[in-house]
Amino acid sequence: MSESFLIRGARRAGGDAIDMVVSDGMITEVGSSLSAGGATVVDADGLIALPGLVDLHTHLREPGYEASETILTGSRAAAAGGFTTVFAMPNTSPVADTAGVVEQELALGEAAGYVHVQPIGAVTIGQKGERLAELGAMAASRARVRVFSDDGFCVFDPLIMRRALEYVKSFDGVVAQHAQDPRLTEGAQMNEGTVSAELGLTGWPAVAEESIIARDVLLAEHVGSRLHVCHLSTAGSVDIIRWAKKRGVNVTAEVTPHHLLLSEELVRGYDARFKVNPPLRRDEDVRAVREGLADGTIDIVATDHAPHPAEAKSCEWAAAANGMVGLESALRVVQQAVVDTGLLDWDDVARVLSTAPARIGRLADAGTPLEAGRPASFTLYDPRPVRTFTDADLRGRSVNSPYLDRELPGEVRWTFFRGTATVADGDLLDRPGARP
Ligand SMILES: [Zn+2]
Repeated sequence: MSESFLIRGARRAGGDAIDMVVSDGMITEVGSSLSAGGATVVDADGLIALPGLVDLHTHLREPGYEASETILTGSRAAAAGGFTTVFAMPNTSPVADTAGVVEQELALGEAAGYVHVQPIGAVTIGQKGERLAELGAMAASRARVRVFSDDGFCVFDPLIMRRALEYVKSFDGVVAQHAQDPRLTEGAQMNEGTVSAELGLTGWPAVAEESIIARDVLLAEHVGSRLHVCHLSTAGSVDIIRWAKKRGVNVTAEVTPHHLLLSEELVRGYDARFKVNPPLRRDEDVRAVREGLADGTIDIVATDHAPHPAEAKSCEWAAAANGMVGLESALRVVQQAVVDTGLLDWDDVARVLSTAPARIGRLADAGTPLEAGRPASFTLYDPRPVRTFTDADLRGRSVNSPYLDRELPGEVRWTFFRGTATVADGDLLDRPGARP
């Protein structure tokens, strides 16, 4: 029989302080002044209770690139950041483009036991953009894939994109597009604009993202399918999504924590930790994505956690890999960028980091409210401390974080995954439930 807990005095997003009893993987009781009755008491006074965070966009690197991350190490990083579900992008080796690979990833996630690892299937075979992968077989597999993406690459051929959008309709799936015109971004090193001109680096124009998003919302409308736009990063992209939603297009969009907080000015130091795809943009773009998230144009925040080994980042800018780790820092960055600035409240945070991504990914038992009879997957977060983000905060295999040595608010105090503690009193556990 698993350990029972009484969570005492946690503040539910948008509500009063409550007590919660956790037993056999479920929340069994919610109320005030509940009695412990043999359960382990967790003093949650001052802590915010959020439904377990759900990341729709994670790179776990296994199979194939285990020097950067594994499903186990990425799961640990996720738990440390308050996540209980991560959607794993398919750019592994082999690519997750068959039922066999997605079932293998699912099983490795179950064995790790920290979070639910939900595989995302590739749209095209080998992510080559030429022929559709076995979308139906992945959907019908034990992994129940509903999200398909060639992330890292854009599904550039409009006919392939149209066919993918049509195909996923039969099982209520969604195509998650990495919107980047490859021709307009050949050799690109950073955002195109005055800073790239000053530094003499090849620019990455906003139109390379916006033109694909504009095309895809029209395609999704034309075939009556569901489109999700990954990591949008420009003011123009926000305008296009706003327009499409007003028109009734079934489109959702995500923004990363780093595009909510950081701008292209950071590239001036040539520190490759700030090299990412899509690139850090202008201050006006940062403002626009914040506003888009606040007004609901952008549905969710997703990390685009992209671990790389040290040698892929500790080299000159032009040779460095794109990407940043983000699972451990996401909630704290969101607090700094949009909560402490008054744009979102904790209710909104629960929506953009849990409820809405679970809904887009069609996971019925993730992102559920903190009520009796629901799975006990939740996070107890302390928004009060402000601390320097250090190596010690990074719990995955790679350390390519843009936030090292930066002050960030907040601390994940407890993470529960299906009734089992994965983070207890601020400590990531060696094994789920293995408290000293
Ligand atoms: Zn991407």
